Formats: sequence, structure tokens, C-alpha cells
Amino acid sequence: MTPIPKSIETPLQHLPHPLFEQYGIDVWIKRDDLNHPTIQGNKWHKLMPNLVAARHQGKSQLLTFGGAYSNHIAATAAAGKHYGFKTFGWIRGDELAQKPHLWCHTLKQAQADGMTFEFMSRPAYREKETPDFLSELSKRYPQAYLLPEGGTNALAVSGFEKVMQTIEKQCPEWTHLYTAVGTGGTLAGLGYFAARSPLLNQNPKHLYGIATLRAADYLVPQIQHLMQCPGDAEPHFKWQLLTQYSGAGYAKTSLEVINLNNWFKTSFNIELDPVYTSKMVFGFMQELKQNRIPKGAKVILYHSGGLQGNPPSASVPERV
Ligand SMILES: *Cc1c(COP(=O)(O)O)cnc(C)c1O
Repeated sequence: MTPIPKSIETPLQHLPHPLFEQYGIDVWIKRDDLNHPTIQGNKWHKLMPNLVAARHQGKSQLLTFGGAYSNHIAATAAAGKHYGFKTFGWIRGDELAQKPHLWCHTLKQAQADGMTFEFMSRPAYREKETPDFLSELSKRYPQAYLLPEGGTNALAVSGFEKVMQTIEKQCPEWTHLYTAVGTGGTLAGLGYFAARSPLLNQNPKHLYGIATLRAADYLVPQIQHLMQCPGDAEPHFKWQLLTQYSGAGYAKTSLEVINLNNWFKTSFNIELDPVYTSKMVFGFMQELKQNRIPKGAKVILYHSGGLQGNPPSASVPERV
């Protein structure tokens, strides 16, 4: 059996730019897009502890949920192929069931990696977390380890311990960190370990999640629960979910975000994905231009990956 690796250390890359100088801040990007080609970015950290648990429980299958463009679906399929689990993806939208010619790259790749799909109607998908449904599923798939949508659970949170330790080793003086939010597991994971950092006494740390779904405030109690830390519990640690940068909603971009993405690529030669990391950088830039980031701030942008859905050409698709 292929051993399940514990962690991968990625670079923290400095982003020198006259604009950042003008505002008196220093900016770095944590390149977790480089951690794995197919189990990329935050998905790696969320999956690994769950794969260890699945093996430990003697499960031979992984079953999870997601939309057709879900990076978590792609990562789960790739992880199953790599580490020897049969994978099942329960996908939102039954209109896709009979129309494989309409499948996006994510679904095609997941299928090539051996995933079997079950397409769910949207009302059924909304019921996927009810105890009745889950117990029914466990009976039908006794060999399967169930992963929630986006892979977010308490174990996923634990996967960010090493990430935060590495960030603090690479830049102990960081003061602000920005990360994209879908289900909030990544924000909770980074926050869980930042809030418990031995470095907190040296300088206060601020962690910001940029929501990519519209009206994402409902996520706050879940994130707080996973992080086990309210937003203002610590004098030296604050976290906040910023919901005003989601634009038209999940997986919908705007000309502004596309332009920013292109600016970022030209300035730093780093690719972002249109769904998550573009919006994260967009949110950060808006905060900067609104003078919400103090002079002297040491800012880290967390590149959570997600590049699997990008077209092979360098251009960003216009999904307005
Ligand atoms: C899935 C994903 C996110 C969202 O992570 P959550 O833990 O669900 O909030 C952010 N960035 C990228 C690139 C992703 O693929």
C-alpha cells in the first residue's frame, strides 16, 4: 500500500510591488498550489488526515459530495487513485446524469481517475446531511468512508497544523492572512492553529476569510465551532469572514476580478483560479485600497490551489 505522506513544505514567496510599497505593507504568497499536481492546495491538507482515518478503520472506499466544478471531487478521485480507495462522487444536479458530453473537465478527470458518480437532484442534494440519509448511505456502502461536501470536518481542520507551523517558521512576524472560503474548513484550520500560536504575544495576528458564496454569513457559527475560537476571544488574535467580495456568487466572476487576475499574473507570474484565489486576492486588494490594512502590516495570501479547473492556456475563462 502506498504510504500516506504526512506533510509537504511549500515556499512562501515575497511579492515586491510599488503599490504595496506605497501602502507601506509587505506581502507574501504561501504557494500551496505547488504541494501536489492533482491533490492540490488546501484539499491535500483536508484529505490526508481523513485518508489516514479511513485506512485505520479498514475502509476501502471514499464517498463524498460536490458540485460539478468541485476541486474537492477532483482531489478525492485523485487521492483514491493514488492511495488505493475506490471513490464515489455524489454530484449536485441530476440534469448531468444522461449528458456526459456536457461534463466539465473536473468530472471527466475524476471519472478518468476511477470515480463513480451518482447525480442528485438539487432538493435531494440539500438533504444529504440529514441523519436519515447518511445512515441509509452507510448501509448501502458499508465499505465507504464518508467525507462531507468540501471535505470539511474536524479531521480536515487538524490537517492545517503543519501548514501554520511552516508559515510561522517562514515568516514569524506575519500580521494579516487572507484565505478563500467555500465551506470554511480552511479558514477554520488555519485559524485553529494561529489562535494557539506561541508567537501571539509578539504581535497580533488577523485572519480574514474571503467568502466566495453569496450571503455566506451562515457559515460563521460552523467556522467558529470548527476553530473553537470566537472572532474576538483572544486579545492578540482576530478572525473575520468578509462576505462583501463574493460578487455575483459562487463560480461567477466579473470583469473586475478577471482584470485583477491578469494584473496578478503579469506582475508576479503566478496563476490564480477564477473561483477561489482570484476572489481572495480581489478582496485583499479592496481592503488595501479602502485603507483597512495598517502601514507596516506583514500580509500573507494563502494560495489554496484549485488550478485543476483552469484551462491549459494561461487565459482566465470568462464565466460572467
Ligand atoms: C475548495 C477550495 C477552497 C475553499 O475551501 P473551504 O475549506 O471549503 O473553505 C478555497 N480555495 C480553493 C482553491 C479550493 O479548491
